[in-house]
Amino acid sequence: MSLFAAPNGVLDKLEKIRRRFLWGGSEEKKTIHWVSWEKVIADKDKGGLGVGSLKSINISLLVKWLWRLRSESSTLWAKVITGVHKLHDKGDDYYSMKSMTGVWNNIAGIKRELEKRGIPHENIIKKHQGGNGISWRCEITRDGKYKVSALRHILEDNGHVVIDSFIWIKEIPLKVSCFIWRAKQGRISTTTALSSRGINLPTTTCCQCNSMEETTDHILVQCVFAKTVTEWIFNWCNVPLISFQTVHDVLDYASNWGTCPKKKKRLLSICYATLWSIWKARNERIFANKRLCATKVVDIVKSTTFLWVKHRGGKRGLNWMDWNILPFKSL
Ligand SMILES: [Zn+2]
Repeated sequence: MSLFAAPNGVLDKLEKIRRRFLWGGSEEKKTIHWVSWEKVIADKDKGGLGVGSLKSINISLLVKWLWRLRSESSTLWAKVITGVHKLHDKGDDYYSMKSMTGVWNNIAGIKRELEKRGIPHENIIKKHQGGNGISWRCEITRDGKYKVSALRHILEDNGHVVIDSFIWIKEIPLKVSCFIWRAKQGRISTTTALSSRGINLPTTTCCQCNSMEETTDHILVQCVFAKTVTEWIFNWCNVPLISFQTVHDVLDYASNWGTCPKKKKRLLSICYATLWSIWKARNERIFANKRLCATKVVDIVKSTTFLWVKHRGGKRGLNWMDWNILPFKSL
């Protein structure tokens, strides 16, 4: 991947294996693809899952060799490559020289791949003539040094994929964050979503209130059970409650609440835990026929966020008694 331009057919096969791994499918068994692959590979800064495409990783790694050849031109290996391929005679533009052979033919040919994507190579690595002679600067990073991740982000910035922004929090377990990321897009396995994808179910009515269709926003936000849990959690946090209708509303409110960034992040973590715990209570009801009352779910939210902040967030001195009174005391 770092030296050879992988053929498109090979990349397609590898991407297929990755998709199957993520979605748990196989040749024999089809599974539901809850989120499009474009959203899965899209950058986290753009609201995606940040998995990245193999093609963009391949291109970015190959460009790194061009960067090294130019920025380390005084090293022995760069002199050998320059001498073997007579690059001194080619001027600056030796990206697309057909006379180059072996792995360097792949690397030099990357210019065409970049141009296909509307990125002139001069926009990535540029020659600068200064008082100290010629120097090379990477135009896509702040410090002027090439980074594989910087070019990957540009290549994966697919303007066709529109995704809601999402805040990833270190102290929140990845599986919980991924669940909330999916819930924000309405892509979780509610009975209504399963039914619309052809799964035969005895009912699509909400198991908690038995009166409405079980959609993502209903089960996690609008249902009387979810409303009760959310109200008590907001009371505990001493944060004014407004009428939420969607998961997006809850997360948007928490990420814009108040002026202290640390408090915003803490409230957002608690909201993630609240939505996750409401979903877990729903699963207990459906799959274990176990009914968790709202107070129990509130207790679970308090204790799980306490453990996440204390151990995953590195707040070792966090006190349970203080936490129980107000979760912002330790900030
Ligand atoms: Zn309900």
